[in-house]
Amino acid sequence: MRFAPSPTGNLHIGGLRAAIFNWLFARHNNGTFIIRIEDTDKERSTKKFQDSIIDSLAWMQLVSDEPLYIQSSFEDKHKKYLQKLLIAGKAYKCYCSELELQNRLGENCRYDQCCRERDCSSFVGSYVIRFKVPDHIKQVKFTDLIRGEIVIDRDQIDDFIIARSDGSPVYNFVVVVDDAEMRINYVIRGEEHLGNTVKQILLYDAFEFTQPEWAHLPLILSPDGGKLSKRDGAVSVIEYKDAGYLPDALLNYLVRLGWSYGDQEIFTKEELIKLFTLEGVGKSGAIFDIEKLNWLNGVYLRDTDSAALLDYIETTMKVPLQQELNTWNRDILLQAITIYKERTRTLCGLIDELRLLYKGSIVVDAQLSDKWVVHETALHIGRLVNLLESLSLWDADLIKELITSYCKQAHLKLPAVAQPVRLALIGTTESPSVFQLLFLLGKNESLKRLRSFVESLG
Ligand code: GLU
Repeated sequence: MRFAPSPTGNLHIGGLRAAIFNWLFARHNNGTFIIRIEDTDKERSTKKFQDSIIDSLAWMQLVSDEPLYIQSSFEDKHKKYLQKLLIAGKAYKCYCSELELQNRLGENCRYDQCCRERDCSSFVGSYVIRFKVPDHIKQVKFTDLIRGEIVIDRDQIDDFIIARSDGSPVYNFVVVVDDAEMRINYVIRGEEHLGNTVKQILLYDAFEFTQPEWAHLPLILSPDGGKLSKRDGAVSVIEYKDAGYLPDALLNYLVRLGWSYGDQEIFTKEELIKLFTLEGVGKSGAIFDIEKLNWLNGVYLRDTDSAALLDYIETTMKVPLQQELNTWNRDILLQAITIYKERTRTLCGLIDELRLLYKGSIVVDAQLSDKWVVHETALHIGRLVNLLESLSLWDADLIKELITSYCKQAHLKLPAVAQPVRLALIGTTESPSVFQLLFLLGKNESLKRLRSFVESLG
C-alpha cells in the first residue's frame, strides 16, 4: 500500500483520509505501507510543501515502513521506460503545438491523432510524447473494490500525453512505473483519480505489468453537498494541528467519514486495525461535520491523562505553558487542566481558558454584569471575602461549604453569589465551578481579585 502525495500544497483532509485508509489496510493485512512524494511536476512542487506534508503525516503517526521515496530520484528509470514504449511503437512524438491544437480542435477537445500515423522523422522543434491507445481497445473495464465494475468507452479516451515537451514524463506515466517497480498491489485513493486510472490501466497493459487492485474513495463533501473547499473552513491538516485537535481524534473522525462498523463512533487504533476492511467503505460522498469532530476531540481530551496533555501542549504545540503560567506550580496546572478539559473541545480553547483564569480580566462583560450585579452584591462579596480570609486551609470542598452556607444564611440562591464571583475572577460567567476557580487561583490571588471587584462597584 502506498500514499503518494504531490508536494504542491499542504496535506489536506481528503489526502489525509486516503493516507489513513492505506495505512489501516496495510496494518490489517500485515502489508507494507510506503510514502512516496510525487514531485515530478517541477513547476508546482516545493520543498516547503514536501516538508509540511511529511510533518503532518508524522504528527498523525503515519510512518512509512520503508525509507521515504522521492519520485524525482527515479528520473532515469522513468525515461528508460519512456524509451521502451517509443521503441515498441506504443507511444509517439507529437509536434502539434498547444496553439495549433486549440485552433484546430477548440478548447477541451479530444486529440485528433494527427501525429499518430504521419511521418514526423524530418520534423524539428519541440514535441510531446503521446500514448498510442491500441486500436483493439473498445472500452476499459475494471473492478473497483468500493464502486464495483467500472466501464469507460473508447470514445472517452484519447492518445494522452505521457511526456511534456521538456522530455519529463507526466504523473500518469511515472505513477505506473513506480507502482509496478515497488510492487504496489493495492491502489487506494480518492475518486477524483478515476479518470487517471483509465490511462494507468492502459499503461499497465502496454508494459505487461500486473495491475494492482483499485479502490476509489468517495469524496469528502461540504455541508451544502459540494466538494469540500477552503470556503468551508480549514482544509489543511496543519490547521487542525495548530487549532489543538488530537491526532487520534482526527484519525477516528476521518475513518468514520466514509467507513462504518455498525453505528460505533469511537474506536481505538487497535480496534480500527482489527476491523478495517474496504467492504465497510461507503460508495457515496460523506459530509464533513466540524461539530462532530469537535465533539469527538472533546471525548479524546477528557480521556487523555492531564500530564500527557500538558506534555503535548509543550512539545507538539510548542506552547511553553508552565513557563507562561509560572506562579502556578505543576500540580495546580495539572489540576486546572483536569478541570477544564471536561468542558473544552480543542486544546487551543483549553489554553485560552487557562490563560484567562491565570491572568483574570480587566474588563467585565457588561451584559452579564447588568444581569448579575445588583445593589447588595458588593455587600455580599465583601462579607464573603472576610469569611474566605479566615479559612486556614484552602481546599475546594471547604470553599464550597463556606459559600453554600453563607448563601443559606443570607437567603440567597447560589448563582446570586457564584456568578458575580466568576465575573470578579475572570470577567465572565462561562467557567467550571466557582469553588474550583477559587481553589485553583489560591487564596491571595482570589481575595485580591474579589476585593478589587468590590472596590469597582464603589
Ligand atoms: N500524486 C497524486 C496526488 O497527490 C497521487 C495519486 C495517486 O495516489 O496515485 O493526487
